[in-house]
Amino acid sequence: MNKKQKKMLLRILISLFMTAAFKILGVKGSYGFFLYIIPYLIIGYDIVIKAIKGIFNKQMLDENFLMFVATAGAMIIGITSDGDYTEAVAVMLFYQTGELFQSYAVGKSRRNISSLMDIRPDYANIEKDGQVIHICPDDVTVGDIIIVQPGEKIPIDGIVVHGCSTLNTVALTGESIPRDVKEGSSVISGCINMSGVIKVQTTKEFGESTASKILDLVENAGSRKSKSENFVSKFAKIYTPAVCISALMLSFLPPLISYLTGNPPYLAQWIYRGLSFLVASCPCALVISIPLSFFAGIGGASREGILIKGSNYLEALSKTSCVVFDKTGTLTHGVFEVNAVHHNTISKEKLIEYVAIAECTSSHPIAQSLQKAYGLTVNRERLKEVKEISGNGVIALVDDVNVAVGNDKLMTSLGIDYKSCHKVGTVIHIAINNSYEGHIVISDVIKSTSKQAVSSLKKLGINSAILTGDISSVAESTANSLEITEYYSELLPTDKVTKTEEILSKLPKGKMLAFVGDGINDAPVLSRSDIGIAMGAMGSDAAIEAADVVLMDDNPTKIVSAVKIARKCMRIVYQNIIFAVGIKILSLIFIAFGVANMWLAVFADVGVMIIAVLNSVRALYTKNI
Ligand code: ADP
Ligand code: MG
Repeated sequence: MNKKQKKMLLRILISLFMTAAFKILGVKGSYGFFLYIIPYLIIGYDIVIKAIKGIFNKQMLDENFLMFVATAGAMIIGITSDGDYTEAVAVMLFYQTGELFQSYAVGKSRRNISSLMDIRPDYANIEKDGQVIHICPDDVTVGDIIIVQPGEKIPIDGIVVHGCSTLNTVALTGESIPRDVKEGSSVISGCINMSGVIKVQTTKEFGESTASKILDLVENAGSRKSKSENFVSKFAKIYTPAVCISALMLSFLPPLISYLTGNPPYLAQWIYRGLSFLVASCPCALVISIPLSFFAGIGGASREGILIKGSNYLEALSKTSCVVFDKTGTLTHGVFEVNAVHHNTISKEKLIEYVAIAECTSSHPIAQSLQKAYGLTVNRERLKEVKEISGNGVIALVDDVNVAVGNDKLMTSLGIDYKSCHKVGTVIHIAINNSYEGHIVISDVIKSTSKQAVSSLKKLGINSAILTGDISSVAESTANSLEITEYYSELLPTDKVTKTEEILSKLPKGKMLAFVGDGINDAPVLSRSDIGIAMGAMGSDAAIEAADVVLMDDNPTKIVSAVKIARKCMRIVYQNIIFAVGIKILSLIFIAFGVANMWLAVFADVGVMIIAVLNSVRALYTKNI
């Protein structure tokens, strides 16, 4: 408990003790008012102040106002009737106990979430005059060398320049498989260094590093509100005036009718019912539990290495009925092996060298693999000019030679006559100075988890489809081995958008489409689909920016977990809405008919709130999902 909570507990105890004492001593009558007002103010002074402030600021219809009017009313009724004031104090006591509990539970779950997301680095080590000193990670500039000792968190993204070690990435990916790094490996912040001392040359500012970005994302996720949350705030606008008017009518209409028909009006009794009605109407449980459920859902997902950028995406994920996959790097590893090189006049080695230099600025998996096939470090100075045409390939000026590397489409657009190849695989043609010089056949390996992801999605009633820029034979064999019937090949990034729109238009109303890509050249589709999911985003900024949901590692089964977490979270939200609204309606009816009193109203309210908050916290736990 924090200081504020302790103070509240003390107020509750004092007020409770005084009220009990007055009750036992039999304090009654109008002088009792002046005694009971003491425990009343001890427990409720802040509410009275907030309510009065609210009246002056013309924002009066909130819970403080409701509590104030109802309890003040009960005190006044106390004077006119036989002088029982315990009820007003008791109502305040109940209410404050509920608030105390709720602030404790909310604080606790927030703390839970932040400790789960324990990736915020507190310091960075630098070497100065032969000694290691701690400095604030904000003070490290790009290119500085930092030292990370075993057991420490990597504070800033960078490249290992000295030493080797094993990293624990569990806080980022949810996977506990350690990752080995050595000189030249890039490392990202948030990982924990487990074995050796490494020196890292930073490549980013602290604020731009992965750990900071992720924390920003999760902390700001609440600002993108889901439909259910918007519903609550819209609902409150109509609801509060509606209950106020109903309470007024309940207080004065029946007495008026009795009076006009010549019966005794029982005004005090009806006003009391009206006041109880007001107390019971406070929608605290909903107002608190819905955002808390989403917050917990987002927190639970991030613990699994799934970043969801807002509660609206959580809601959309739960309604997904179709997942469209990009092939390369998403369903497949995106690490191509060279199967064959068919060359004309230029030697094989020379050809691969040209290709590697031409591709050295591209981040496409194909480009990376071709550079790996070259085996040597590329001398970037030999690359004079380069243009990458997404979905086609690259055109570059290497030394003074014009090099075009890409697929059939690129060759056709350049008017170069190319040969087709009998081998199955992705064929990359090469033209030097506009004459055809052969092709490299490369092939990719399907991830071992892709098939499981597709079949688990099917079990959840979700269809899978493939969109790829690769040739149809490769697309077909991938689709067949994953048992996906819907696939479209040879698509440019813009065609992918058109196809996605086509699939979108066929979806049943209220259902959502998710696109999963590796974040490279897929930004247009990511933003066009209902939910853009970027995969394998460890360290890739573009993907973190463009996508709505970011999977930190490249395991496609994480999509299944994401959907399950989203569905669980939405179930909790609906349970809370139905439960809270149901109990509310019941207690309002009971009060209107005089079956329940103010005590019960508050008791029901606080009880519902506690159960709803506890239920919300369940969204945080995603293990056996
Ligand atoms: P995918 O949908 O499978 O991710 P892309 O749209 O990224 O495919 O690329 C489609 C095709 O365009 C590739 O299969 C390849 O033939 C060609 N291509 C794209 N980028 C490059 C590149 N940098 N070098 C060579 N070929 C490329
Ligand atoms: Mg791609």
